[in-house]
Amino acid sequence: MAGYDYDLFVIGAGSGGVRAARVSAAHGAKVAIAEDHQVGGTCVIRGCVPKKLLVYGAHFAEDLHDAAKFGWRTGEASFHWPTLRDNVLGEVRRLNGAYTTTLESHGVEIILERAVVTGPHSLKLFSGREVTAKIILVATGAWPHVPDVPGAEHGITSNEVFHLPEMPRRILISGGGYIANEFAGIFHEFSCKVTLINRSDTILRSYDSQIRDRSLQISMAKGIAFRMNAELESVEKVPGGLKVSMTNHAPVEVDQLLFATGRVPNTAGLGLESAGVETDVKGAVKVDADSRSSCASIFAVGDVTNRVQLTPVAIREGQAFADTQFGGKPGRVDYDCIPSAVFSHPPIAAVGLTESEARQKYGSVRVYTSDFRAMKNVLAGRNERALYKMVCEPETDRVVGLHMIGPDAPEILQAAAVAVKAGLTKQAFDDTVALHPSMAEELVLLK
Ligand code: NDP
Repeated sequence: MAGYDYDLFVIGAGSGGVRAARVSAAHGAKVAIAEDHQVGGTCVIRGCVPKKLLVYGAHFAEDLHDAAKFGWRTGEASFHWPTLRDNVLGEVRRLNGAYTTTLESHGVEIILERAVVTGPHSLKLFSGREVTAKIILVATGAWPHVPDVPGAEHGITSNEVFHLPEMPRRILISGGGYIANEFAGIFHEFSCKVTLINRSDTILRSYDSQIRDRSLQISMAKGIAFRMNAELESVEKVPGGLKVSMTNHAPVEVDQLLFATGRVPNTAGLGLESAGVETDVKGAVKVDADSRSSCASIFAVGDVTNRVQLTPVAIREGQAFADTQFGGKPGRVDYDCIPSAVFSHPPIAAVGLTESEARQKYGSVRVYTSDFRAMKNVLAGRNERALYKMVCEPETDRVVGLHMIGPDAPEILQAAAVAVKAGLTKQAFDDTVALHPSMAEELVLLK
């Protein structure tokens, strides 16, 4: 380690940074990790985990309603937001503690301060202390983007949404991606009037068009209002709430405005230029396949690189970095066939190519679908249809894309993604006996 305070100094204790720090320490490196908020990062503190708990909480609205058709008399049900909010925040605190303990038990020094880079091997902490490291890993994640419109400061982002003092009666959500659609579902189930405004006429752009259409159709039938081709113009405080003006539509008055307009890499003020670390137009650290930046001793993993903004990808990048640099086991992340999901109501899940991507790649494709009503929904009188879609390469019948919307779609797709990743054919799915009665059996009965 000749002359350095640490073998590895990690900036940011989120999913990628924690994995890299822990595994590098287990490989024998002397490691420190700096974090200026809470150990755990976006996913644990203000992202995937608390969001999923809210999704569970929200779904009770439908379950309690449907329970009557299954013979349950539940009486008058009511929802108390502070109870759910505080229980979720309690769970977040528990996980924050668990992540801290894991790092400590691996001998990683946790420094709860902001750190900035001052050179290829040097950093300065908020307290003024200066440290050196053989390798620096930037794992600072991303931060919500807020459009530059008058009055934008009256809105909140996914950072604040978990702390709301009370449930709004009316909310406007700006954006048409993951966070917008997930929170549209959550707020709607909590009886809040939701209006979603999107700058184009396409929501969830990266998903298959038939699945997107179904999602939109179900959300509209539930009562969520959509304003398409609507660019936010201004936000104004008015008695009793906010007046949000947009292009092509009348202004909307709401109690709360949530921005869900993408996340930008967190590199501002990090001092990267002092070490010659190049960033792209969005501020993302440019890295090679080993996550190495344009400065040989500085690496970056996770959302700050803007490769694929998903927690499990950041974790893989952190693991590959640690194994390669400190474990004598060089490895790279395979970005092919990454499954993803939108935890909307109902959820969406997908792996591989959409039909239109596959058509562009192969010219023609074979498509198989199942459009059905889940047995539970039939008895409940819930007129909501699931859609499963399989896209196959025409020559070999290899499955190149699987797309689903319906109850438990992410749980089902994770298992099916193994088959898609393994390059199995439609015939291999057909050769598998159906597990009856289940929704997943539709995957081996596709026509
Ligand atoms: P997304 O990229 O999913 O969606 C952003 C949305 O905002 C798009 O509809 C986009 O429109 C729109 N938009 C972007 N810039 C502007 C602007 N200046 N004015 C108006 N609209 C704009 O981002 P999210 O914020 O929803 O989520 C951030 C990331 O976090 C996601 O990309 C995802 O990787 C991750 N995430 C993953 C989840 C999961 O795995 N379930 C859940 C939540 C977040 P357009 O389509 O026209 O670009």
